[in-house]
Amino acid sequence: MSIRENLDRVRTDITEACARASRDAASVKLMAVSKTWGPTALVEAFEAGQRVFGENRVQEWDHKQQQLHSLIGEGVGTLETHLIGNLQSNKTSKAAWLFSAVDTVDSVKVAARLNDVTAQVGKVLPVLVEVKLSDEESKQGVDEYELPSLLRHLHEMEGIDVRGLMMVPPWTDDAEGARPYFRRLRELRDEAERTIEGLHLPELSMGMSHDFAVAIEEGSTCVRIGTAIFGVRPRAED
Ligand SMILES: *Cc1c(COP(=O)(O)O)cnc(C)c1O
Repeated sequence: MSIRENLDRVRTDITEACARASRDAASVKLMAVSKTWGPTALVEAFEAGQRVFGENRVQEWDHKQQQLHSLIGEGVGTLETHLIGNLQSNKTSKAAWLFSAVDTVDSVKVAARLNDVTAQVGKVLPVLVEVKLSDEESKQGVDEYELPSLLRHLHEMEGIDVRGLMMVPPWTDDAEGARPYFRRLRELRDEAERTIEGLHLPELSMGMSHDFAVAIEEGSTCVRIGTAIFGVRPRAED
């Protein structure tokens, strides 16, 4: 299967999941997660009409976007790129310039650094807060008890536009196993909107290759799809 065919199939699956959930297909964004793939894979997706991409490393995307300039030229400017990997504090400034959005903010410290870069130049960076809903030691994300306080801080920052929540559920073989986590993220969003005045969180980034249909049924507005578009990743991520 080519990347174009895979994209077609994923788009069809998204439309069908939206129909089952009585949702408008335009309410779910498809993010192509291109981490570990070289620029030619991105160009293939680009030529099949894909514009939203997710990358998990600042350095990797910096390198790739430079290569893309020689392949698609001005086309690079039409890409919407999201950082979906852990952001180290020494990379915040680069990330704020390089990405359209940072979807993994999980501390006031990182947010304040992003805000320092953007507020000074009058840029407003869209961000999502990554939430950790399970006790897995290795997982990034703010835990749900600290979420309201982090959201309040972000809401005050002039260079930051906090748009919603993002989450990676613990791995389960069966996509249904992820449903309670997707539902919980939506509830946390609803609670935050109720309790923090003036805060609107329209975005819920949840759902990956194996569970995006369930995520859509639970209210996802952005599904992050890697394997189902590009195939099994060529090398380990870490
Ligand atoms: C790699 C990654 C994805 C894509 O996962 P697939 O299972 O390949 O679709 C989605 N979200 C995040 C945060 C990732 O790191």
